[in-house]
Amino acid sequence: MNDWNAQALVLRVGHFREIDLWLKLLVQGKGLMTAFAFGGSVSKHRFCGCLEVFNTLQCRFRRAKRRDCYTLEEAQLVAGPNQLRQNWSRMGVAANCLRFLETFGTTDEHCEHVFSLLEDLRHTLEVSNPISDLLPLLFRFHLACTTGYAPDLWHCSLCQRPIQDASLFVVNAGQIFCPGCQNQLSLPEQQRFAIVLDHKILSMLRRVAQELPRAWYTHDLTGTQRQIVARTIDGFIQYHLGIIWRKGSFIRI
Ligand SMILES: [Zn+2]
Repeated sequence: MNDWNAQALVLRVGHFREIDLWLKLLVQGKGLMTAFAFGGSVSKHRFCGCLEVFNTLQCRFRRAKRRDCYTLEEAQLVAGPNQLRQNWSRMGVAANCLRFLETFGTTDEHCEHVFSLLEDLRHTLEVSNPISDLLPLLFRFHLACTTGYAPDLWHCSLCQRPIQDASLFVVNAGQIFCPGCQNQLSLPEQQRFAIVLDHKILSMLRRVAQELPRAWYTHDLTGTQRQIVARTIDGFIQYHLGIIWRKGSFIRI
């Protein structure tokens, strides 16, 4: 049999031909996948009206005989947003995070965590009030940290002592240095993209690296601290993942 069942989370939906849909999905145990749902926009019997962005579905897939593509034969709603679809601003945050994931990709190894991450993000966007204005950036940082790109924000890269005070984070090296070691860096100053991170920013970044979105509060940061966080994460993602935001979409550089 070519059919198989799995849970999937819908990242994007598009139309092709009159009543058919294509879907970008995060599929449990498989990763990112495109599937075609023939009759997807009309068949209530096979799809129950559940083919919408950010829904978790129980799916039956079929592999096409000749090509490396899949059709979605049936789907049932497992979980989805309730009030969130009426909130355009929050759906915009969700879309930004889902686009970033599409560009970054995922592996079999990390798929289960990324699935949990998206379900927690959906819950957070649904119930948290307010949400952090930095949430899309924090999502990128968490995704990087949990898929093999985590910088050590706990120990000085030179002396290995625990970092406790404001310290120098060299973004392009992905390393942090305690105040005592900052004069001994081998990387010349002109080749560093370095930012001083105070204790509050470090605590927040550590929390984001390790915990799911419901724990990502930033209301205790000042405007200046938020700008520092934004520069740090933007730079980190650009240097280490090679992804930037340009003309309305994420691209790899
Ligand atoms: Zn040190």
